[in-house]
Amino acid sequence: MGKICRICEEETTIGTREECESCWNFYKRAYQKFHEDRDIKIEGFDDEVKLAKHLRTLYIDNKYCSYTGLEMMLRDREYTERLKVDGKEEELEQYNRKLAVLGFSIDRKISKNGDQKAPYKKDNIVLCIRAINTMKGEFKPEEFIQACYQVLAYQVENQTIFADQVLSMLRNFNVKHIEKPIIPKVEQILKEAGVYEEDFKSYREDYIKEINAKHNRKK
Ligand SMILES: [Zn+2]
Repeated sequence: MGKICRICEEETTIGTREECESCWNFYKRAYQKFHEDRDIKIEGFDDEVKLAKHLRTLYIDNKYCSYTGLEMMLRDREYTERLKVDGKEEELEQYNRKLAVLGFSIDRKISKNGDQKAPYKKDNIVLCIRAINTMKGEFKPEEFIQACYQVLAYQVENQTIFADQVLSMLRNFNVKHIEKPIIPKVEQILKEAGVYEEDFKSYREDYIKEINAKHNRKK
């Protein structure tokens, strides 16, 4: 006879713990928020169990990062324990590195109200991957998105990266929401060229031809 997980309230085989394996992720994060030394304000959740339940609901509702659309990871403890037992240190390190980037985290959309820290409350939290949460810092969502746009537009403009590379990178990750180019300046160039993906190829080939022609002229 299994026990009932206190977060998802489903029967599990959890031994001495009070939450099942996947809910442990939500409980642990909620617990940290309630018990961290930093002065964190939480509103509308009486305790870590209530907050963990809400985090679980958010994750089940949408397991993709609110800002990047990347799939957020939950730590699989059974898997990491197995890697430890089997002495697969390299795989474990790789897994932990991936988790440090793609692990789920709680973002306060608005993190400051003037000098005051904004609270963790239902209408102010979304889930996103850890790396993005770190980058976003105290920016508001729209400021952060604008900054990302700026970085990408500048890099594309300077040809450190090509628009088609950006798209294929996003596709190689598991972004679900990218259907057309979203980069302002390049979008303009591509609109002139016809916007569709096939055109990226010829756009890039044309650019390379142009560059080669320039080099040849210099010789
Ligand atoms: Zn559970």
